[in-house]
Amino acid sequence: MTLTLLTTPFVTSVGAATSYKDKQQQNEQKQSKQKEALDENKQQLSKAQEKVYAIDQQINGLTLQVVENEQKIDQNERQLTKLKQKITALQKKIKKQEKMLGDRLAVRQAKSDKDPLLEAVFGAEDIGDMISRFNAFNTIAESDASLLKDYETSKQELAEAKQELEDTRTALIHDRKVLKKKQHELNAEKDKRTALLKRLKKQKRSIESNILSLKEAAAQLKAQEAAAKAAALAAKKQAAAQSAQPASISKASTKVISNATGKFIKPANGSISQGMGAASGNNGYAYHNGTDFAGPVNSAIVASAAGTVIQASSGGPYGNHVYIAHNIGGKTYTTVYAHMNALTVKQGQQVKQGQQIGKLGSTGNSTGPHLHFEIHEGGYQYNANGRTNELNPESFF
Ligand SMILES: [Zn+2]
Repeated sequence: MTLTLLTTPFVTSVGAATSYKDKQQQNEQKQSKQKEALDENKQQLSKAQEKVYAIDQQINGLTLQVVENEQKIDQNERQLTKLKQKITALQKKIKKQEKMLGDRLAVRQAKSDKDPLLEAVFGAEDIGDMISRFNAFNTIAESDASLLKDYETSKQELAEAKQELEDTRTALIHDRKVLKKKQHELNAEKDKRTALLKRLKKQKRSIESNILSLKEAAAQLKAQEAAAKAAALAAKKQAAAQSAQPASISKASTKVISNATGKFIKPANGSISQGMGAASGNNGYAYHNGTDFAGPVNSAIVASAAGTVIQASSGGPYGNHVYIAHNIGGKTYTTVYAHMNALTVKQGQQVKQGQQIGKLGSTGNSTGPHLHFEIHEGGYQYNANGRTNELNPESFF
């Protein structure tokens, strides 16, 4: 057996009805405090939700910017391709123009061999130098002038295209930097949002679980109080009947008295597979607070003593389990039956000693079919590391 279900101790004396009231009042106060905490949490949650909303807006804005940036980068990349094609075309055109100019000059050279001006021109180092010499001497024919003008325009266009290519590349690098930064910002905002929501949900769950535990404790207190009252009333009736007709019901009353002296019977038929006491700690507890009975699945589990079922639930470390409150000899006891395959009683039900309450199983934290059985002097208490108010069941059978 492992985790605690409830830590609120129950009163041990039947007579102290006011103690139940005190406990109930304390429980109610605790519940109202938890409800206040829940209200506060709700307010914080709504504030945080506004913050989440603002973050979402931020995320939306950033997402748009990222998309725009990606589009801009695409555009620039297409522009780069176009410019490269344009530059290649211009370079081809210029080469052709240079060839034509070269041919034209060769013709001129042949015509006027001794022209000193042309000689000066042909002494030029390259085509560009040659053009500037032509222009300087202003001696070329009209058709040659237009050829030269086209050539200059092509050169100018090439220079412009190269500059544009350079500018586009610079813009592209800048846009990529901006994109990276925006994506980083976007991820940071997303992380912030996730962390905020996680924190709030955790806080809410913790408060809700506190309230649930307190409600369970309240229900058990109520059931235990009712069980104690019913037992006291039954004992009174028994005493009255006994004094009125001692001879005729002596046998029956003996049985009741033997119950009232604190006797518990074995709740299952199987053999004892683990007794109460120190445990290895391998299963999450260093102290085994009851007795385990190994046995076949679905074999009968019976009430160890007469009492009131104060809990009949499924789930949790105990699996399908039953708590029964007993009033024996003026004292309250609580017995626990865990890991059952099925339950045959309901909360609030009165049970007799030996009456079936369920079927043996292996639900909850259990490694094989067995009944885990506890006897508490008073209400249910739990400590994984040592004894609280458990009695050793084996001392009764
Ligand atoms: Zn056990």
